[in-house]
Amino acid sequence: MTKTTLIFSLILFSFSIFSCGGSGGHEENPTIPATSAPEAPSELNYEQTLLNIKLDWSDNSDNEAEFILERSINGNSFTEQTSLTANTTTYTDNTITNSNQTVSYRIKAANSSGDSEYSNQIDINIIKIINCSQITTETTCLSAGVYSLQCEWNQNICENYKDNYDFIPDEVNSGNRIWPENHGEAHITTWKNDRLAAFSFTIDDNWAPNHNWWVEQGNNYDFRFTWFVIAERISGENSSFNGTWEDYKELFDLGHDIQSHTLSHNHGEFSIEDEYSLSQNLINDNIAGATAITLAYPGGLKTDEAEIDDKDIAAEYYISARGVGGHINKVDEIDYMNTYTIGTASLDPENRIGTPNLIEYNPNYPQSRTYRGWQIQLFHGLDEDEEAEALALMEYLDEHRDVFWVGLYREVVLYGLERDSAKLDILNISENTISLRLRDQKDNEIFNYPLTIKIRVNNDWLNYSATQNHENINASEIIYNGNKYLLIQVIPDNGDVVLMKM
Ligand SMILES: [Zn+2]
Repeated sequence: MTKTTLIFSLILFSFSIFSCGGSGGHEENPTIPATSAPEAPSELNYEQTLLNIKLDWSDNSDNEAEFILERSINGNSFTEQTSLTANTTTYTDNTITNSNQTVSYRIKAANSSGDSEYSNQIDINIIKIINCSQITTETTCLSAGVYSLQCEWNQNICENYKDNYDFIPDEVNSGNRIWPENHGEAHITTWKNDRLAAFSFTIDDNWAPNHNWWVEQGNNYDFRFTWFVIAERISGENSSFNGTWEDYKELFDLGHDIQSHTLSHNHGEFSIEDEYSLSQNLINDNIAGATAITLAYPGGLKTDEAEIDDKDIAAEYYISARGVGGHINKVDEIDYMNTYTIGTASLDPENRIGTPNLIEYNPNYPQSRTYRGWQIQLFHGLDEDEEAEALALMEYLDEHRDVFWVGLYREVVLYGLERDSAKLDILNISENTISLRLRDQKDNEIFNYPLTIKIRVNNDWLNYSATQNHENINASEIIYNGNKYLLIQVIPDNGDVVLMKM
């Protein structure tokens, strides 16, 4: 090694002498022939963005006249893409307009004595190249990140992006699951684990006599429920009906959730601020680990009775508040400060709000747009009929658990709000490694719930590792149409994600 390095240094040294003497104090004289062909460039690398391919390489020669970059599409023969002046080490290829193809590059140095050997060759699966020719401020746009949908919206995309940062994944808009073809292509799934629709059980007004029944069903079906509690009544005079904080702590420790239904059910004694904030404090103080970040308006938000409930004040304390309304929440039009709730469930697809319509599109009710939506079911105390209704729902959801996400109210809110403000960047794709970055515009203290990223990987990825910020993250795999996909759980703004074939 030492010998080679030494010889190489001597060669470099002699060239530099020659170069100084040869130029004789003038600027470079291209007519003086180089005595030998240059060393080959090496370490040709790439970064794929949504707009272009950025290449860089190591310049190993000091006598090149130019670099010649060659490109091949889909394994066809290489042709010269461009010639670059001496000492250039980067190139951005803006001329690729189609995804679904493989583009290969190699580069060599050349002078009047001849060409070097080629560098290493790189083969890139083009995942999502978009043609943003209508965008005038491409540079700004590129640095902020660009998505094809936004691109199509209008040419003020960069402004849009800056103001709203609202990125709705393609999947939400199309209504269908997306199955990308190319290795490394990824997107945020509409609901957790690529489920078609979301469902949340909520229970209001404490109803301690039913706690054991709910716990039992929760264990039987492996579902978890959200209690919206009237906080001041807990551990009070009528604790056999309202329960104690120990009761709710037990529910919470089993994976159920305790959220706010105000302090006194808006009894009139307290200000709206106190109803919202003191209930929140009581829950957080009495249940270790609980985060009361969602509210249920007593009786729903009555817009004509602002003195009873107030959406703006609620938003100061909570990221979401459950209303009434008897609708399914449309996947891309959820009013998180006044979500719809279903009082009486139906398993009949002929019913406009029938739960089956969430997982199978029903053309009879195009306006309802229940397909892929979120159903929030509300229970109070349970008589026999209501127990039967709840059980029928659980039975149905259990039978369809591959397509339904049964999540806590708080979790679904976190997922939806993160998803709709998130941005996924694919940083790098190679045969054995894929890296990506997921960001959102939300406060990381509260919004730290993982989003599911679905990513297509080559079928030969039999064993692989998935990490975020160097920590292992949950990954599962599915096969669809003979292609392999990974579902990985990624917390926004929590560090880069690296997938590696082992
Ligand atoms: Zn109530």
